[in-house]
Amino acid sequence: MSTKNINTFHTQRMFIDGCWVHSSSGDTRRIVNPATEDIIAVVTEGNEEDSKRAIEAARRAFYEDGWMESTARERADFLVRVADKLEEHAEEIAVLETLNNGKTMRDSRNDVSDSVDQFRYYAGLATKPHGQVYDVPERMQALVIAEPIGVVGQIIPWNYPLVMATQKMAPALAAGCTVVIKPAEQTPLTILKLFEIIEEVGFPPGVVNLVLGKGATVGAELASNASIDKISFTGGTKTGKSIMKSAADSIKKVGLELGGKSPNIVFADADFESALDHALYAIFANQGQVCSAGSRLLLEESIYEAFIPALVEKAEKIRVGPGIEPDTNMGPLISEQQLYRVLDYIEIGKNEGATILTGGKRINRKGYFLEPTIFTDTNPKMRIVNEEIFGPVLVIQTFKTEEEAIKLANGTPYGLAAAVFTSDAARSMRVIRKLRAGITWINTYHATFNEAPWGGYKQSGIGRELGTNGFTEYLELKQININLDVKPS
Ligand code: NAD
Repeated sequence: MSTKNINTFHTQRMFIDGCWVHSSSGDTRRIVNPATEDIIAVVTEGNEEDSKRAIEAARRAFYEDGWMESTARERADFLVRVADKLEEHAEEIAVLETLNNGKTMRDSRNDVSDSVDQFRYYAGLATKPHGQVYDVPERMQALVIAEPIGVVGQIIPWNYPLVMATQKMAPALAAGCTVVIKPAEQTPLTILKLFEIIEEVGFPPGVVNLVLGKGATVGAELASNASIDKISFTGGTKTGKSIMKSAADSIKKVGLELGGKSPNIVFADADFESALDHALYAIFANQGQVCSAGSRLLLEESIYEAFIPALVEKAEKIRVGPGIEPDTNMGPLISEQQLYRVLDYIEIGKNEGATILTGGKRINRKGYFLEPTIFTDTNPKMRIVNEEIFGPVLVIQTFKTEEEAIKLANGTPYGLAAAVFTSDAARSMRVIRKLRAGITWINTYHATFNEAPWGGYKQSGIGRELGTNGFTEYLELKQININLDVKPS
């Protein structure tokens, strides 16, 4: 699909209570292709009132219209049908993701494939046993059953627009919850496509709702509204803190997937070429706009002189261009605002006294392209070492001993991901066990699977997504104690 085929005069609507609707204000938003700066779509721009409408519909669907009593088999059937239709439209959706977000076609295809998998995985999980039976000290039988939490609000960022949506929606629906989801302002297009599938599959009205608009209005309403039973948020740590505060008033359950400043530790005994390639992939995949990006490279001092020139040489060979072109390795940043945010950090790094080894500038062409950038001569107090830049900017730190590497690695408020490269098996486990991070790798980076739990330690989040943990996050547990001594009179 070329950009020209997208009809910019047709305003795309939200999906509330089984219907496509315009926002109550009539406001609209232009959606931009970050590789060309062209407007590729116009969507309706919701507000608090629209969020409230969607929440009421989701509440009615859960508590009054029977979704609460739907069987696991029914729910699994819906999810399998969504997976099949997503797969049927995979290439079209991947193209749309690349046009809207900027990522390479390879990344978009992987994302769509992950989304299909997530619906299949949770369809399977829905029908598996989830209760427990307890032996208790009295003549009672104690059972625990798992029930859906209820109405769930979900808020997602722009870096993985489709996958972030499906990894929240699939487990919530499998568990029997109803959903109101809000994508990031910049990237609604693939979720709109997903909701065409949701409509086609025929979920009952109100079970799955899509609201579009700003975080401060549409999103904040989901976080604060007392009719929402759980809020699940993926985004920046600062926003996560405000969501948690808003949720406190109604003691709603909170799930948070937040930012990171993840260390990638390379010991001198690591496989040189593999460590080199992974160090580049860790930071430059998805333009560095990855919560788990290996944005700090911790290098053992003895290999610094050999590693750095090889790293710079390879970084300079990365082909930056529109994600839609097949030989592109790195696309544009999501928006002009994000580009300037990252450029600001580059200035901060220079002013703090760090040295740029390569990159550091906007690329002179249309689109929000930035050179892959590497900083050295850093110290642990610098802002570029501690703060999430969320762009293609790698910061190098050096260490002499294992203990020093661990201390540096754990030295930020974040705890999302971490990696260790070494050929010493005992050391790899010893170090990994001391790293305060929820997602870790040994001799690889970024490999993750829908089957395993995803989430952060420290200020990188609360709770887990994906795997069986991602499912139980949408369940309440109810104990039932049965008196075995009561006899019929
Ligand atoms: P963001 O926090 O600015 O926005 C994320 C979402 O929250 C958007 O939909 C936005 O509209 C909404 N939002 C903003 N303010 C809000 C408010 N006051 N109330 C309710 N909703 C609000 O983040 P971003 O810039 O879109 O995304 C980048 C961040 O997301 C990075 O920090 C990244 O690390 C993080 N992220 C984390 C994970 C993870 O799994 N841990 C995954 C992807 C992205």
